[in-house]
Amino acid sequence: MEILEQLYEGKAKKVYRTSDPKLYMVYYKDDATAFNGSKKGSIQDKGYYNNQISAIFFKLLTEKGIPNHFVELTGERSMLVKTLEIIPVEVVVRNIVAGSLAKRIGKPEGTQLAVPVLEFYYKDDALGDPMINEYHVKALGLATEEEMKTISQMALRVNEILVEHLTPLNIQLVDFKLEFGRHEGEILLGDEISPDTCRFWDTATQEKLDKDRFRRDLGKVEEAYQEVLQRLTGGK
Ligand code: 5GP
Repeated sequence: MEILEQLYEGKAKKVYRTSDPKLYMVYYKDDATAFNGSKKGSIQDKGYYNNQISAIFFKLLTEKGIPNHFVELTGERSMLVKTLEIIPVEVVVRNIVAGSLAKRIGKPEGTQLAVPVLEFYYKDDALGDPMINEYHVKALGLATEEEMKTISQMALRVNEILVEHLTPLNIQLVDFKLEFGRHEGEILLGDEISPDTCRFWDTATQEKLDKDRFRRDLGKVEEAYQEVLQRLTGGK
């Protein structure tokens, strides 16, 4: 299989066409952005950490029966994935109040939520990814009601699987963002699952082990990404 031309360059990843029409190659960059691209920087070896961390989570989810785009790692910073027609809806699951929810409902970060909260955002940089609900999704023709039912069930199941996996590693899964797409008539989980797209807090110290260290200039950004990978691999 051959890697052909670059199809797309996003803020954190590049996507390449391959000689297999059903597969793309994703390359993870070290570039970091926040606040809809207004804060820019670079996190040393982030591409490596996010590629490896995402691969571990996608393999776990495959084992647990969650269909996703991951095929195999192809290098330190790259993976082979199934082609997806991306649904422009960002799906956020929250277990603990943080970030935009803390602002929206006026509760302190760290407040435990009684049940996981599912949210949808319209994936549109020009609009700043506004929050939407299932009626907007249907009315705008972004996805069908049946697709949204599948996506919602998958997102909540991903939350259960990740929490179960991370709890013994002393990582609290505060919240995370998922993206889904269509591949040969099936809904697959796509994008990445990494400290760029999840909030991870150390259970004992509440120390942030994710991109909030970059967003909020907390320092030790690379170290946080490295720590997450190290806990996932048991230092192997
Ligand atoms: P919040 O709405 O609090 O800013 O984000 C909730 C969760 O979703 C966080 O874990 C955050 O990292 C993730 N998230 C939401 N929107 C985006 C986005 O556009 N890009 C990335 N990388 N993560 C996002």
